[in-house]
Amino acid sequence: MSGLKGLIHSIEAFGTVDGPGVRMVLFLAGCPMKCLFCHNPEIAAGDEGQFYTPQQVLDRYNKNKFFYQAGGLTFSGGEPLLQGEFVSQCVRLLKENKVHVAMDTSLCCGEQWVEGLIPGVDLWMVSIKAATAEMHQKLTGQSNAAIIMNNIISLNRSQVKMLIRYVIIPGYTDDEKELSKLAEFIKTLPFVPPLELLAYHTMGVHKWRNLDLIYCLAGVPDATEQDVERAREILRVNGISDFVLCYRNQG
Ligand code: SF4
Repeated sequence: MSGLKGLIHSIEAFGTVDGPGVRMVLFLAGCPMKCLFCHNPEIAAGDEGQFYTPQQVLDRYNKNKFFYQAGGLTFSGGEPLLQGEFVSQCVRLLKENKVHVAMDTSLCCGEQWVEGLIPGVDLWMVSIKAATAEMHQKLTGQSNAAIIMNNIISLNRSQVKMLIRYVIIPGYTDDEKELSKLAEFIKTLPFVPPLELLAYHTMGVHKWRNLDLIYCLAGVPDATEQDVERAREILRVNGISDFVLCYRNQG
């Protein structure tokens, strides 16, 4: 194995919301998207962190291995696949050591990383930020057409275990147009994955201020439980039935 290192912003030793069981969560620095609602802008900025080799990641995991028996390790960020080579090497080593691996990703990355990781990742948690091209561009500064949706389709075709995550943002991602388009896309997937609905919240806004950044969604209220339920109803009418509900925002 090479001496390749990855820039990790921070590590959560005992995470419970990013995959099954108790997990070590690696927040990899950097992200190609610029989501207006990002609640980890300091991680997405990608200029802070510590360099780790894959072996150091495994060593860190092994320190608390006992606690992860029903869990494992999750790559999150930022966008973990921005450091695709490092993540691929880590996953290879983790699988040799029988670690359950989850990937929390927007799939805004080169398709080669996705394909190469299929054998080693046990659970893909894929965020769709917006369903229509216009809303995606507005919310993330990136198109969803060419890279992201194609990556989701090719991953899904490979029959991996997948969960789609979608944040309900009042006035942005919760209307009939966005939700019916989301339903339409999900239904075209060969192996329809469950959909996790997350509620937008403003708990990360202070981080934008700390970074001297303007928070463009100022004034947008937190999504309530009713907002999430309303969105679920629209999706249900549009043919989606497999939901995971969660009244928090993964960012
Ligand atoms: S919300 Fe996620 S994908 Fe969007 S900028 Fe933040 S880290 Fe990147």
